[in-house]
Amino acid sequence: MVIGLEVHVQLKTDSKIFCSCPTAFGADANTQICPVCCGYPGVLPVLNRQAVEGLVRAALALGCRINERSVFARKQYFYPDLPKNYQISQADLPLAIHGHLDIEPQPGKKKTVRIQRIHLEEDAGKLLHAVGSRALDYSLVDLNRTGVPLMEIVSEPDIRSAEEASTYLENLRTILRYVGVSDCDMEKGSMRCDANVSIRPVGQEALGTRAEVKNMNSMRSVRDAITHEVARQTALVEGGGRVVQETRLWSQDQGTTQSMRSKEEAHDYRYFPDPDLVPLELSKEYVDTLRQSLPELPEARRVRYESELGLSPYDAAVLTAEKNWRTFLRPRSRGLMGPIARRPPNRSATG
Ligand SMILES: [Zn+2]
Repeated sequence: MVIGLEVHVQLKTDSKIFCSCPTAFGADANTQICPVCCGYPGVLPVLNRQAVEGLVRAALALGCRINERSVFARKQYFYPDLPKNYQISQADLPLAIHGHLDIEPQPGKKKTVRIQRIHLEEDAGKLLHAVGSRALDYSLVDLNRTGVPLMEIVSEPDIRSAEEASTYLENLRTILRYVGVSDCDMEKGSMRCDANVSIRPVGQEALGTRAEVKNMNSMRSVRDAITHEVARQTALVEGGGRVVQETRLWSQDQGTTQSMRSKEEAHDYRYFPDPDLVPLELSKEYVDTLRQSLPELPEARRVRYESELGLSPYDAAVLTAEKNWRTFLRPRSRGLMGPIARRPPNRSATG
């Protein structure tokens, strides 16, 4: 099996990406909206500096190259949760490219998953088709989420099992929480994952036709959905059939994927540079300042716990899974944890 993941992560900001509406979760429908995020004619977007900073810091933590010049583009499609009928995203010139994330799905079996690109974009709204358990014969639109800043992290098709996919997501979540740019809560939708899944015979270089699986709302559903989709494609091909390129929706209740639409290609969206936003140009100094603001990352801390404290790889991995866990360790184990207490002063004050 060959898997590439597209992960959408909500960037932690006070306001939306192109207007000053708040981004707090759980507010009453349509109480956090304005003419800009509702797409009224004649309004102009103004880019949120905090969103750019969050993406650049995340990208640096993932070993990416930051493009000093990037361009916003309109991705055009019609859907009731998208009031402008286009989404402001990035196409040919994303903010960051060529990163990587190391995973160890089984002890001693390390591998590197390449990250193709990370770009900045705005979220769409939300459609409600039911109130409580009552299905509606119409749909309601909530635009509170419209214009919330997202980064889309696109991996190369380097993942080879459902287990590798969930390990990749777990490591990604850990790093982004360390850097403090998102809470990565899949249940609240601040981290969402789509998987491009294909199969090919052992030894074949060329990739098979892929299906894109959407609607996976937990780590477990990512594992279950990929396992199911690979089994479905395998049965199809072994029965003499052919995989078609399409988007499929995962249902955790039914344990299956259902065809949603034939998969569109990039050119179907008629991307073009957004004339309302100037190209984003970042100086080397600005990027360097953000690089210096990064905390010690989980991998470095894990290595340090092993070498400085003599912890086993397992203990070191457990103790570095959450950034703030050391907070609880220090008072009782001051002697053992001495080297941690002597961290340089520019690190996070939460430790
Ligand atoms: Zn707004």
